[in-house]
Amino acid sequence: MASIRFKGITKKFGEFVAVSDLNLEMNDGEFVCLLGPSGCGKTTTLRMIAGLETPTSGQMLIGDRDVTFLHPKDRKISMVFQDYALYPHMNLADNIAYPLKVRGEAEAKRHARAREVADVLKIGHLMERMPSQISGGQQQRTSLARALVYPSEVYLFDEPLSNLDAKLRLEARGFLNHLQRDMGMTAVYVTHDQAEAMALATRVAVMDAGKVVQYAPPMEVYRRPATTFVASFVGSPPMNLLPVEAMIADGALHLKAERVSVAPLPVARSVAAALKGNSKLTLGVRPEHLSIAHGGEANAISNTISGQLFANENMGPEKLVTLERDDAARFTARIFTDDVIALDATVTLGFSSEHIHLFDPAGARLP
Ligand code: ATP
Repeated sequence: MASIRFKGITKKFGEFVAVSDLNLEMNDGEFVCLLGPSGCGKTTTLRMIAGLETPTSGQMLIGDRDVTFLHPKDRKISMVFQDYALYPHMNLADNIAYPLKVRGEAEAKRHARAREVADVLKIGHLMERMPSQISGGQQQRTSLARALVYPSEVYLFDEPLSNLDAKLRLEARGFLNHLQRDMGMTAVYVTHDQAEAMALATRVAVMDAGKVVQYAPPMEVYRRPATTFVASFVGSPPMNLLPVEAMIADGALHLKAERVSVAPLPVARSVAAALKGNSKLTLGVRPEHLSIAHGGEANAISNTISGQLFANENMGPEKLVTLERDDAARFTARIFTDDVIALDATVTLGFSSEHIHLFDPAGARLP
């Protein structure tokens, strides 16, 4: 296994900057997820590690080796693709053993090794089948087996679970998590599914428009999102965000918006600095930190937000209660309740001050 370092890596396609001045260090044994919306540069970053794209500028190291311009076959890397990329004319045994064949291993030895990996992945009984004769989940495991059959320094995954149905996807995710703990592999995993990143990663690199906007362990990204972009990308449903008027008076921070009541907060130095010359901030509260405040109770809860009920969705053990405000902004709470609320009824949601996130006018987190 080996570490990976990006030093000022930029990738342009013509004039278009797909990845911009990337500086990232991935430690030996880390499972890093590149998370972000479509087109943010995740796959391009992964392909540069594999050697399938050459950086326009910057330097890339795997271990102590400068691999910036090294041919893919000289990189000791295995890659699992979104579409599995199995050879349709080969049975599973030959598909899985292929990386050993190109490296000149004898047939008996490579088939024994392929069988060993296939057994771990619970596809050992399918070795004579062709890829067209197995299910999507089995194809996914075949492609994983092919990546694992030969020891690599780094394993790369490009949305390997995206073609699976919801149930198989969860199962495969658990399996990958187990494998990572078992093998301690250095892996880079591309996904636009925040739940997958949270479940698998030792660190998550959240990308937006070719840049990494936060690089931290999953719980740090969840608890302290660096920007409103990260806040609205991580979490299910994502964090509620609301523009508020802010002012400092009597040594406290006062936040104001229509039908919102927030108790005065202590004034952090960063907030005071952000408020120089303007009065707008963004208030954030996660859906799981909201509760329904009933009539009398509303007065006892320090912070509240009101609106008309827009949707009330059953999720099994819990509900998603969404209220709509006069400016059409919506606020969603994830709560346990048996209450039946009429559509358009006025709903008041409560939250405690410790669950408030604040962001400056440019969207950067205020500590
Ligand atoms: P997705 O989740 O949709 O795969 P992504 O985050 O992986 O998206 P990339 O595939 O890395 O995004 O693409 C980043 C940007 O670079 C996109 O705008 C894409 O259109 C552009 N791009 C990628 N490859 C090329 C190419 N060969 N030529 C020109 N533009 C490209």
